[in-house]
Amino acid sequence: MTTMIRPGGTIGIFGNGQLGRMIALAAQPMGYRVHVFGPEAGSPAAQVADEETVARYDDRTAVERFARRCDVITLEFENIPVETVRWAEAITPVRPSSGVLEVTQHRVREKTLCVDLEIGVPSFASVDSLESLHDALRGVGLPAVLKTTTLGYDGKGQAKIATASDVPGAWSSIGAREGILESFVAFDKEVSVVAARGLDGSFTNWGLMENVHANHVLDTTVAPAAVDDQTADHAIEIARQILEHLDVVGVMCVEMFLGADGAILVNELAPRVHNSGHLTIEAAFTSQFEQHVRAICGVPPGATTMRPSAMANLLGDLWAGGEPQWDVALADGDVKLHLYGKSEARAGRKMGHLTALGATGAEALARVVAARGALRKA
Ligand code: AMP
Repeated sequence: MTTMIRPGGTIGIFGNGQLGRMIALAAQPMGYRVHVFGPEAGSPAAQVADEETVARYDDRTAVERFARRCDVITLEFENIPVETVRWAEAITPVRPSSGVLEVTQHRVREKTLCVDLEIGVPSFASVDSLESLHDALRGVGLPAVLKTTTLGYDGKGQAKIATASDVPGAWSSIGAREGILESFVAFDKEVSVVAARGLDGSFTNWGLMENVHANHVLDTTVAPAAVDDQTADHAIEIARQILEHLDVVGVMCVEMFLGADGAILVNELAPRVHNSGHLTIEAAFTSQFEQHVRAICGVPPGATTMRPSAMANLLGDLWAGGEPQWDVALADGDVKLHLYGKSEARAGRKMGHLTALGATGAEALARVVAARGALRKA
């Protein structure tokens, strides 16, 4: 395979948070060097990387110097400016490409793509003024959610509209700018498909993940999701279609709502490794991070055979009463701890996660939730 980037080559990563850190930790055992690019020094990814560039994404000279030093570049954060990626792409391959980001950085483009592929999404409309928001509400109905079209994640930049009196507050809370109004879905479950597409078009995934959010932030993931095979197959087929259509190289996560009637509605596309795939580190023969490295380097995919497992996020709030009791939580030998190297434990900040294995997903979930509960001092 002539396009393969051989071990010894350098993988560049735009973004330097925990996702970059876990990509680096998967790349290094295979012999790759990792060079991270981001605006802050001493970041979670830089702590483990072989090399670090601290620069802003609009520093073209720094971006081009970085690109010349990398054999391939990837990203761990979907809001890297498209222009930055284009500067780098002119010098070295970036996977996923700027074309993928152009769609996934924009909620209306993302949903329009799904409509074009005949994939279900919540009903939606673009808005760009208070007047257009009122018009959109007539089509979408109540309750609804107003979101910014760009730069939103983990519930940031969104406001629920339950009654007409919420409209002015919602409009100002998203900054009175271009947005998307979506119907509020009374879903039965939230699920995701974390999937990888190789340079050769190979498609792999880890089955359906079942996710629970708290305050719009992922709280727990269980694998496999407790759904029938037909629903799981349908969700995976949706992900395959999207990755193929966008010509994604690397891992992408497709987040979905499942209706009580079995309907699947796509909520969001994340063109990167994803929090709901963290449990693949312990539960799968090949983790999402390793598969991502393989895909962007043109290495054939590894097996994704999974064991029942669950993940619980550790937010900064857990530190409110002092250092968590790691020894108590880890008394269960089927629980693993991941901490991301963040020095300041702010409320709501993702500091780490726990993963547990079990005979079933439900057993693993009970285990991981008990371990997380044991972290807090009584
Ligand atoms: P997002 O940033 O779009 O992924 O939204 C974060 C979380 O908010 C989702 O995982 C859901 O729990 C909730 N949410 C977002 N959009 C909707 C919607 N249209 N209907 C119901 N819940 C939603």
